[in-house]
Amino acid sequence: MTIACPHCQSFRIQSKDYGKKVAGSLGTLAGAAAGFSGVLGGAEAGASVGAFAGPAGLLLGGLAGAIIGGIVGGSAGGLAGVALGDMVDTNVLDNFECRDCHQVFSASPE
Ligand SMILES: [Zn+2]
Repeated sequence: MTIACPHCQSFRIQSKDYGKKVAGSLGTLAGAAAGFSGVLGGAEAGASVGAFAGPAGLLLGGLAGAIIGGIVGGSAGGLAGVALGDMVDTNVLDNFECRDCHQVFSASPE
């Protein structure tokens, strides 16, 4: 998709992606928070699996479960946040700025 400035028809356009950045960070945080409950569940599941291998297995299983739960939750939240932010950027915010005349505009087709 080529975007031209509606003011001076320049193709030197910069996208700001504020929504994507903010929502991506928030989503990662929210995902990590959600992942934390996954951590507990993962630790529990890992520990019960690891319990067959004795105390060391219990510890390792719990750790592995906790790490996996946190990573999965955080990255899933981040992805959801970026997708949401992208939608906000595209539909709500004036996401593009012309580098020549500094006009700010959205990419809605006209
Ligand atoms: Zn322009």
